[in-house]
Amino acid sequence: MLNKLILFYGSIVSMKNKNNKKSSCNGCHGDCVSDTSVGFKISEDFKRFNQKDDIFSRSFWDDQIHSEKTERFYTSYRKPLKEWKKVDGYQHRDFSIRNAAWHVTDFFAERLEKSQDRREGFLDFLTAHRPSAAESRDIPDPLEMSREIKHVAKLFDADLCGITFYDERWTYDKRFNRNQLEEVEMDLPDGITNTIVVAHEMDYELLRTVPSALSGTATGVGYSRDVTTLLALAQYIRNLGYQAYASMNDTALSIPMAIQAGLGEYGRHGLLITKEFGPRVRIGKVFTDLPLAHDKPINFGVEKFCDICRECTKACPPGAIDDGKQLETIYNQSNIPGIAKWTTDAEKCFDFWVKQVTDCSICIRVCPYNRKMPKWAFKTWTNLMATPFKRIILWLDKIIGQGKRNAPSNWWKGH
Ligand code: SF4
Ligand code: SF4
Repeated sequence: MLNKLILFYGSIVSMKNKNNKKSSCNGCHGDCVSDTSVGFKISEDFKRFNQKDDIFSRSFWDDQIHSEKTERFYTSYRKPLKEWKKVDGYQHRDFSIRNAAWHVTDFFAERLEKSQDRREGFLDFLTAHRPSAAESRDIPDPLEMSREIKHVAKLFDADLCGITFYDERWTYDKRFNRNQLEEVEMDLPDGITNTIVVAHEMDYELLRTVPSALSGTATGVGYSRDVTTLLALAQYIRNLGYQAYASMNDTALSIPMAIQAGLGEYGRHGLLITKEFGPRVRIGKVFTDLPLAHDKPINFGVEKFCDICRECTKACPPGAIDDGKQLETIYNQSNIPGIAKWTTDAEKCFDFWVKQVTDCSICIRVCPYNRKMPKWAFKTWTNLMATPFKRIILWLDKIIGQGKRNAPSNWWKGH
């Protein structure tokens, strides 16, 4: 009966949404993606973000954040703790698999750290490339080129790919040099016109075990997939004779770019929510001057659903997630000023990570957009979340209980 009900209302919603499909425009420079169409509420107090104020950067230079415990947190990613807390999910094998998942990303992050003062993927864009071809391919049709880029991105393991104009507001005002503990000038060359945004699905079953060191494996795998996709995609563009810079957490804020590129909407927990995987994604981007058509932002009702849902707020152990409306409130210097949005308190969030000696994704686990169902059922589920039936979905979500934690030892046993 319940299935029939979901199917019936789902079909009504899909009919309604047929006219609301994601589409592309033909290579403008952002005029078609206004802040209003994306849902950005930006005031005159807006300032570009300085990477020095990012909570991870602050944990190196700011005595309010830096401590012996933050040192232990970072060291544990190189040297697995043998046992911690004596509880399931924090044993030697859990830290070992988490660190192994980070290994590829770490290799690129540390490759030039000593010799060239670059921590690529986190503080500096990736540079493991051959130079661009001397002659560039003629691109008469940016729309066709965009189709081709998405095809190639999927081949190189991206789960999602969207394209938008290069919006400098999201590029860090200054970068941070962790060795020198000082801010440095942004080094992204001039002439960038477009941003290709890719996303990788994070492993659902691993994230069910959060909080645990084991669940951090999903983050590591996501980053490691990201680095290989981005490097290959950027090299493909270079081989066509254009500029391409592959970027993970470095250089610019990924979430606003992903929203502009039509990959999803912004959630109360401060994360991107995609139609396909909810908030269970890692995001990367390639900055380029390749002529490309742009995707349009999508709206599938996330803001209104978050208005009635507080699952992430209630579940966040340190209380770091907003409970109220989208405002310009900032908690500390790790928040970007001048944007009315749900803001998380990065100091509280990071303090919890440090105490757990691993990253946390509880807000992803409990989010009703993070559910594993057959594709058609998940589509129906998210469609219904955008209708007056949203409260029923919220109620149903609790009954189904998919947001509950699975014991890490169950994951090791394969269930
Ligand atoms: S990651 Fe964990 S601590 Fe941080 S906001 Fe999400 S639930 Fe809270
Ligand atoms: S848990 Fe609920 S309130 Fe939080 S982001 Fe997900 S849908 Fe929005």
